[in-house]
Amino acid sequence: MSDVVVIGAGIIGAACARALAVSGARVTLLDRGSPATATSAHGEGNILVSDKGPGPELDLARYAASLWPGLSEELADELGPAFPALEYERKGGLVAATTLTGAEPLLAFARTQRAAGLDARPVGADAALVLEPDLSPDVTAAVHYPEDAQVQPVAAAEALLASARRRGVDVRGGTEVVGAVTSGGRIRGVRTTTGTVEADTVVVAAGPWSGAVGQRLGAPLSVLPRRGMVLVTTRMPHRIRHKVYDGDYFGATQSADAALQTSAVVESTAAGTVLIGSSREQVGFDVRLRVDVLAAIARRALRLFPTLTDASIMRSYLGFRPYVPDHLPVIGADDRLAGLWFATGHEGAGIGLAPATGEIVAALVGGRVPALDAHPFRPGRPGLLGASGEDHREP
Ligand SMILES: Cc1cc2nc3c(=O)[nH]c(=O)nc-3n(C[C@H](O)[C@H](O)[C@H](O)COP(=O)(O)OP(=O)(O)OC[C@H]3O[C@@H](n4cnc5c(N)ncnc54)[C@H](O)[C@@H]3O)c2cc1C
Repeated sequence: MSDVVVIGAGIIGAACARALAVSGARVTLLDRGSPATATSAHGEGNILVSDKGPGPELDLARYAASLWPGLSEELADELGPAFPALEYERKGGLVAATTLTGAEPLLAFARTQRAAGLDARPVGADAALVLEPDLSPDVTAAVHYPEDAQVQPVAAAEALLASARRRGVDVRGGTEVVGAVTSGGRIRGVRTTTGTVEADTVVVAAGPWSGAVGQRLGAPLSVLPRRGMVLVTTRMPHRIRHKVYDGDYFGATQSADAALQTSAVVESTAAGTVLIGSSREQVGFDVRLRVDVLAAIARRALRLFPTLTDASIMRSYLGFRPYVPDHLPVIGADDRLAGLWFATGHEGAGIGLAPATGEIVAALVGGRVPALDAHPFRPGRPGLLGASGEDHREP
């Protein structure tokens, strides 16, 4: 018997399983498919503090950002040079407005972040062009965020999984959770397509399917898929030095609008490709890559970097962010069923927030006080309980 079953072997489940194992728990990590191949393999690797307004999410992002340098070194040491590099880089972010109407809201937002202690430096157009020589001269305002970073998300998820295995975590792919085992008013394990797994603690970390998994366990949660698309260029000379995104990005992340929203997030990778994201829309688990959405993303990117006109697009892909209506991750015990926990709802920030989520879950499950107040993230907060995302799979 395990102490803890974690459902979902994406980056969140991997981080939780590893942190729980480090704290001494016997952990089984279940995934219906192959570990680290769902949302965590279909996004980007931004570790952003710049797009978070003062409050619990910024606190969580700063806590996560503080963990990444040590974690990436620890994983590299532990797994050795044969393991793919995590490509962790604290390269900083540059947020730029290209319209007059966009300038003041961007600067006002940065003022609120500075008041909360974040390093958010307004830079004039000339200074922005020094930071990013290929940036459009039409920039009307820009803010430099030295704390923003990036990581290779699949390598990071794989490394957390490998480290978890080395600490005794039993990682099982091809094992779908279909229901709960309960007795005495609490959860005692899960029923799966390959048999029953007993444990007095069950953590749901099933990304955009967490609502549906909660429903199967008797505790539905409002987690819905929010589709996003990304364009990838062929390898090109390293000309883009920071994570650069347009000032509209903040509005898109915080909006609850189901309709299509796009904003440019442009970054070069260690491999030499440039990632150009992204879009946000609520269309269920619709896996069609749409030309109109990709065109809208490209248009926005060209406003920031006109030189990308000559770039060659190698591929595009999409994924489904785990969205909750109030845009805060869901981390903590579920009051409806003793022993049931959630670690989900990270929407467009789950890669960056994974280490902090793992640490908080391990502390709470172990009866310790976490480094950050987790109360704002509790599953029982207003508006989250009751509904569930339908379990439509990607084919
Ligand atoms: C286009 C796009 C760009 C993004 N960019 C960024 C970014 O720059 N920075 C950032 O931090 N985040 C980004 N994200 C968000 C990030 O990818 C997610 O927040 C994160 O990957 C969620 O991880 P997860 O482990 O919760 O979910 P997943 O990786 O989806 O893992 C959940 C797992 O649960 C499993 N599962 C589901 N149902 C069951 C069941 N019944 N039984 C067993 N297993 C089950 C699934 O098979 C899956 O493997 C982006 C997302 C998208 C789509």
